[in-house]
Amino acid sequence: MFKALLLEQQDKQTIATITQLDESQLPAENVTVAVKYSSLNYKDGLAITGKGKIVRQWPMVPGIDFVGTVLDSTDQRYKAGDEVVLTGWGVGEGHWGGMAEKARVKADWLVPLAAGLTPLQSMQIGTAGLTAMLCVMALEEAGLTPEQGEILVTGASGGVGSVAVALLAALGFSVVAATGREANHDLLLKLGASRIISRDELLTPIRALDKQVWAGAVDTVGSAVLAKILSQVNYNGAVAACGLAGGFDLPTTVMPFILRNVRLQGVDSVMCPFARRQQAWQRLAQLLPTSFYDLACEEISLEEAPAAADKIMNGKITGRVVIKVA
Ligand code: NDP
Repeated sequence: MFKALLLEQQDKQTIATITQLDESQLPAENVTVAVKYSSLNYKDGLAITGKGKIVRQWPMVPGIDFVGTVLDSTDQRYKAGDEVVLTGWGVGEGHWGGMAEKARVKADWLVPLAAGLTPLQSMQIGTAGLTAMLCVMALEEAGLTPEQGEILVTGASGGVGSVAVALLAALGFSVVAATGREANHDLLLKLGASRIISRDELLTPIRALDKQVWAGAVDTVGSAVLAKILSQVNYNGAVAACGLAGGFDLPTTVMPFILRNVRLQGVDSVMCPFARRQQAWQRLAQLLPTSFYDLACEEISLEEAPAAADKIMNGKITGRVVIKVA
């Protein structure tokens, strides 16, 4: 038997309980993992609170990411004792996820723990941090360099945002952190932001083309905030868009694209191919300073996950939350 957080549906409500499961209940796949840590992402918040249609079959063990040790594997790439990381692929949505002491998953979904990272650090980064790295890679591939000007990060005190701030600062960019929380200004400066703007400054009326202020941006918010950024990006600038914390609509025009050569690059971490994931994990291991782990991460128990899920839904989580599973 092993401990798990289990989500069930009663009268269209999602009920989350800590329970004991039997290994025979695990889904049939080719690698069984003893999970050490999972982490709390926005999507986990949606799943656990039932506020988003994330869970595709019931009952469900949530947890879109985890790190752990292989217990047994019928796939040649992995053997008992290997340390592995999983993010995405619909795990914690349509397939039992990381908020349990054991998980059984497809070998294709795993990556070996990157050299230089501890298991704990890998979940302090987690899906949110991997996504931040993919956003930064998208900006680099669009040709952005530190000389070109400031990079804006929205939702900066959240999981993706805080890692993006730390990564861009480590790469020598001037980072402007946009946040709705004054209490986090000091933290964001310590993570490497060169200055802070209020979220409200991005919620003023949107013009098709505004004054050019940003060389590029990492946007986790979407909606009017993303539209505003697009109208303010420099000629030849680029925006990596990965989130919808402010809404999934996009009230923009084609003007920034056709008159300023602006690039809008979508970023998805869920189906990201293996080689690119591995590259992103290696860069995270090299780039993230210890100050990120010290300043922006907290650890909670599996029992505390439902309350933390409520908090992330209400924009009350700062940085990254790791869930100690075993
Ligand atoms: P968090 O909740 O940790 O961070 C989101 C941040 O956005 C908050 O901390 C807050 O930052 C800001 N925010 C919250 N609500 C609003 C609002 N209504 N308007 C404007 N800003 C708001 O979540 P994550 O960092 O885990 O995820 C961020 C987004 O990225 C989510 O939408 C998530 O779904 C998406 N995501 C996408 C992935 C992908 O593969 N594409 C992978 C991972 C996440 P502050 O208080 O500083 O303003």
